[in-house]
Amino acid sequence: MARVEQARLSDHIVALLKQGPRTRTNVAAMQHSVAYISSQLTQYGYRPYTETLAAGGVNILAERRGTGTPRRVLELAAHYDTRADTPGADDNASGVAALLEVARLLAQAQPHYTVRFCFFDHEEDGLAGSRHHVQLIRARNEPLLGAIVLEMVGYATEQPRSQGTPLRVPLLFSPPTTGNFIAVAGNIPSGGLGNRFERAADVYVPALPYFSANRLAGFLKDALRSDHSAYWDSGYRAIMLTDTADFRNPHYHQPSDTLETLNLAFLQNVTRAVLASLLVDGVASR
Ligand SMILES: [Zn+2]
Repeated sequence: MARVEQARLSDHIVALLKQGPRTRTNVAAMQHSVAYISSQLTQYGYRPYTETLAAGGVNILAERRGTGTPRRVLELAAHYDTRADTPGADDNASGVAALLEVARLLAQAQPHYTVRFCFFDHEEDGLAGSRHHVQLIRARNEPLLGAIVLEMVGYATEQPRSQGTPLRVPLLFSPPTTGNFIAVAGNIPSGGLGNRFERAADVYVPALPYFSANRLAGFLKDALRSDHSAYWDSGYRAIMLTDTADFRNPHYHQPSDTLETLNLAFLQNVTRAVLASLLVDGVASR
């Protein structure tokens, strides 16, 4: 976990932001992003491949074969597209950077299950990328263990009263009021996957505060806003790791969503916990 490098995370974000918003109409930015993600994966020793969407655009995928039960696949996903008029540093270059850094380090490790990295296009467009991907794996009847979706994982602050919430129910749902934690959002069937991440964070990255909306988030409309809900809709297990987007980050979908606003130490800790959760054996199968 100590080998997760902050400088690499920020380099990835700089590279992704270079050509402006990553939208369907900004072809140069999309081509640049696809080339960048693919070339990084190739450098780490992967053989990346793509899935082409009907509406144009591609998902980029790569796999690290498991040494224990390779037939069982755990997916790690983040979308790389943005809304128009936003650089999308937090949304979601932060997630892409974390995935790339996990991929680099996992290439030198031996996961029990096969890990598939999924870089989705068109999340900001009705989750078109993840929905297309989930349809493909459903059609192949893949025995997927589940998916861990990273959706904005770079914004955190120690400022008091910096954290909003869609809901506050004393004793049942009371997120901290300081926005310094990562939220774990899952529905009831995905509870084991949430436990897997939380246990890994407890043991390997105790400095990372997390708020568990594991199992409960399935009941919140606001928790349906990212790629994990494409998995839920097809009966697959998935959790979302998030800094909670506009409940914390004032730059959400704004031109000001830049690298300078991110907390790289926080992003580094989230990346460490994700890596740890992939290397903790046997938890997701229970
Ligand atoms: Zn997003």
